[in-house]
This record gives sequence, C-alpha cells and structure tokens, in this order.
Amino acid sequence: MSESLEEKIFSLLQKSDDGSMSQSDLGKALKMNSREIARTLSKLEKRGLIKRAQTKEKGRNAYRVTMLKMHQKIDLNDVIWCACLTCPDLERCGKGQPVSPEGCTKLTASIKAEQSRLSVLGEGKHAQ
Ligand code: SF4
Repeated sequence: MSESLEEKIFSLLQKSDDGSMSQSDLGKALKMNSREIARTLSKLEKRGLIKRAQTKEKGRNAYRVTMLKMHQKIDLNDVIWCACLTCPDLERCGKGQPVSPEGCTKLTASIKAEQSRLSVLGEGKHAQ
C-alpha cells in the first residue's frame, strides 16, 4: 500500500468527529470501489492501526472503521536533541540490556537541556 493512500485514510478518520467513518464513505471519498477499499482496510486492520466493526446502515450490512492509533509523522527536528540519536550504546540499549533508558544520565541530561531550552522560548509549559 502506498504511504500516501494510508495517510489519506488516516487524515479522513482524524477529521471525523469520533475518529471513525463507514467503510463505504471512506471508499467514496478516496474514489475506490468496495473491493479495493475493503482490501486496503483489511491490511491496516491486520497491522492493528484500525478496527472494523459490522453495523447496519440504512438496513444494510456495513462496516464502521475506527482509528486505533494516532498516525502522525515525526519531524526529526523535534527529537534531534535526544542523546539516543548519537549514542554509541544505542544498539545494546533497552529493557534488560546492559544499558537502558531508566537511569541513563545521558538521556536525562539531554531531556533537561531540552526542557531548559523550551522554557526559555516559553514553550515548555507542559514539560515536566
Ligand atoms: S537511553 Fe542512554 S544509553 Fe540508551 S541509547 Fe539513549 S543515551 Fe544511549
């Protein structure tokens, strides 16, 4: 599935009031026939990104599509400050590994530095 098609589906779901739409409405919005949209959504469902639930629409069987995970792009500039990005221990870091984020002084220092930078800019109101 092309990334742009997936992005279009999530964009439509995010714009809806409750993060869900009928499968047929999604198909119409994307100019896809019922078979194409069903196949596409099935792939997203298998990846755990959406849920389809059977329902009735105008007395006919239909599917309601609900977004399960927020789908958003991460801009590298938003996390470039994180020590992990340049850490030589990245490959061996993790829960139960020789080094881990819990108690990592390099990670803690980079978070504190970013918090200070944001507070100077007046953007760190929610950072703690
Ligand atoms: S948590 Fe610490 S040790 Fe692990 S990758 Fe990040 S900076 Fe390196």
